[in-house]
Amino acid sequence: MELNVLTLCYLIGSVTFILGLKMLSNPATARKGNLIAAAGMIIAILGTIFLYEEGGQKLGNYAWIFGGIAIGTVIGFLSAKKVKMTAMPEMVSMFNGMGGACAMLISIVEFNHLVHGYPASELPVGTVLIILLGLIIGSVSFAGSMIAWGKLNGKVKDFSFTGQHIFNIILLLVIVGLAVYLIGWPSDNATIIFYAILALSLLYGVFFVFPIGGADMPVVISLLNSFTGVAAACGGFLYDNKVMLTGGILVGAAGTLLTILMCKAMNRSLANVLIGSFGGGSKTGPAGDKEQGSYKEISLSDTAVVMSYASKVYIVPGYGLAVAQAQHACHELEKLLEAKGVDVKYAIHPVAGRMPGHMNVLLAEADVPYEKLLEMEQANDEFPSTDVVLILGANDVVNPAAKTDPSSPIYGMPILDVELAKNVIVNKRSMKPGYAGIENDLFFQPKTSMLFGDAKKVLQDLIAEIKNL
Ligand code: NDP
Repeated sequence: MELNVLTLCYLIGSVTFILGLKMLSNPATARKGNLIAAAGMIIAILGTIFLYEEGGQKLGNYAWIFGGIAIGTVIGFLSAKKVKMTAMPEMVSMFNGMGGACAMLISIVEFNHLVHGYPASELPVGTVLIILLGLIIGSVSFAGSMIAWGKLNGKVKDFSFTGQHIFNIILLLVIVGLAVYLIGWPSDNATIIFYAILALSLLYGVFFVFPIGGADMPVVISLLNSFTGVAAACGGFLYDNKVMLTGGILVGAAGTLLTILMCKAMNRSLANVLIGSFGGGSKTGPAGDKEQGSYKEISLSDTAVVMSYASKVYIVPGYGLAVAQAQHACHELEKLLEAKGVDVKYAIHPVAGRMPGHMNVLLAEADVPYEKLLEMEQANDEFPSTDVVLILGANDVVNPAAKTDPSSPIYGMPILDVELAKNVIVNKRSMKPGYAGIENDLFFQPKTSMLFGDAKKVLQDLIAEIKNL
């Protein structure tokens, strides 16, 4: 009877996970989807703790289990409450690393069980294979995610040396070679080889992420996320636990798809992201290196007039909007203009910000209706009939060099064709480049005007100006 209830718990866990994942694909249902999947997982976890039996024995160890859960819950709750929208990618990276570490620890524990249960020459091949897969993938994901976390919050600097990619390939081959040796020719040295594989995998995780440029970090995080999923699925195999297997496979598949979609949005191959060192390597130089001509500034009062008397306005949000936490002010401006009869919409680039979906989440937080958010292709069709495009803290995603300059590191990345609109107003604090570290010709074009200042402050002042018109 109890076994059936447990199976039911696992079924609920798996179904809610799939349902939750589906709901996450739409901003309108994402929050609910997250809660549904979490609720299903809680049922599966409690089912395992209280109903799972092996040899007629329950798990026990309740003080350890609930102690661990309590500590994790407090840390998770506090960090989720405290985290700023701009620091979300590093938090995702840290949590993902913890998943990888779990898979790694499971492999260590289970390998120790195995070597104490069998003579070295009789280690079961299938089980050792799964343990090693979980160990290698889990520890690469753990170490890589920690470096990614450090790089995103500025504690770890990009680091690479000549021949690093070759070094990485050799390291990977040695790891695979040792794993094959351990499985094919088990000996009394099995434990030493096992820990050598662990150490080298951790090292590989570090060197795998070290040279990758800052702007590519979200892609790497997504890739590491899929690794963690696969490592967790190995745990599911090991324990013959269906919900762990389903969860792991879904995370692995979702992470892989997201990685592919992000590469597509930047029009680059995964190999190019992993070995191209975009954003860390070839830049066209800091702002001011190149003779760009002059740019023109626009005052707040002129901006207020231009926008109030326009019939169609598009707002392009970027990373700067997130930094300034200007989403609420932005929504207020939109409502004010709509009340004056202006048609206001948002043009969302798939990689605007530092995470896919960054802008959607940010604007959803400020209650901007979803139907006002247009994806890049739709927005590009609308720009020719748009009177004003207001760019708020976006830079690379509106840089025409992606189409016109083959030497640019962002060449080939699809961009928002804002220059097709009648007027372009760019809000940022200075003429400094964006994340890719490159100049933006858009700022020097005749129809572009610069509106300098912090996005939130500028929007608040603009709202006041429009109200006074
Ligand atoms: P960018 O980083 O290109 O530009 C942001 C701009 O915001 C900066 O130029 C900065 O200029 C300005 N800014 C910063 N703070 C403020 C503020 N408080 N108020 C007003 N402006 C501010 O951002 P985008 O969103 O345009 O582009 C995203 C970048 O990230 C692209 O390079 C993309 O390829 C990359 N990327 C994104 C991924 C994703 O999945 N989202 C994945 C991989 C890469 P200033 O300092 O002068 O104010």
